[in-house]
Amino acid sequence: MRKNIVAGNWKMNNDLSQTETLLTAIKQQTQTTNAEVMVAPTFVNLYPAVNTLKESNVEVIAQNMHFAANGAYTGEISATMLKSVGIETVILGHSERRAYFNETDELLAKKVDAALENGIRIIFCFGEELADRKANNQETIVKSQIANALFHLEASAFNNIILAYEPVWAIGTGETASPEQAQDMHQFIRQTLEDKYNSEVANNVSILYGGSVKPANAKEIFSKPDVDGGLIGGASLKADDFFAIVNAF
Ligand code: PEP
Repeated sequence: MRKNIVAGNWKMNNDLSQTETLLTAIKQQTQTTNAEVMVAPTFVNLYPAVNTLKESNVEVIAQNMHFAANGAYTGEISATMLKSVGIETVILGHSERRAYFNETDELLAKKVDAALENGIRIIFCFGEELADRKANNQETIVKSQIANALFHLEASAFNNIILAYEPVWAIGTGETASPEQAQDMHQFIRQTLEDKYNSEVANNVSILYGGSVKPANAKEIFSKPDVDGGLIGGASLKADDFFAIVNAF
């Protein structure tokens, strides 16, 4: 069943004490919400964050993981390690991972499999670059990113997948896709899923929008029928802004 979700991606921000301060403020402000709320601190702060948010309705999620179970992968973190500290959801395929760490669709397909095999839910990110949008290629790009990383899966796998459409040109730039552009793409994504699987998969998957969502534009974006929430970068670093976005539902 499709849910409203607001997830904050903190990226490489906040040391331990900043993490505790922000989490305490978020915990107080998000006691009753109309959306599932998640925050993704950096790896070293996941375990303390899980403890701080115990008995709250905010879930701590991871920003990334490796596909292997363990072994000689210096600096990497596995699905079982995430699970062992209480993490049940991971972001995969963020555009910064794709751009700065060369994560390809093929690599992401392996990460997707590893997460699902370990019972970890996925927020799968994808989105076109500015040049693609200017050339009106956004749908082709988005379809291929989804197909290459996800279309080897059975329909039932989508019970554990949340999609996040994040046009690269809107991430951290202050430039937002218009609510109509977001709606058009989300509708296209649902149609793509219906064509490949069935209408149940298409209608039940939550599709988040990400790209410069702020308190001022969240309500309009979230009001679109195929937008089920947001993946929030910059604005998730301030408790009041994040809370205002959560309350846009
Ligand atoms: C993101 O990094 O996923 C993101 C959407 O960032 P911002 O909200 O800062 O554009």
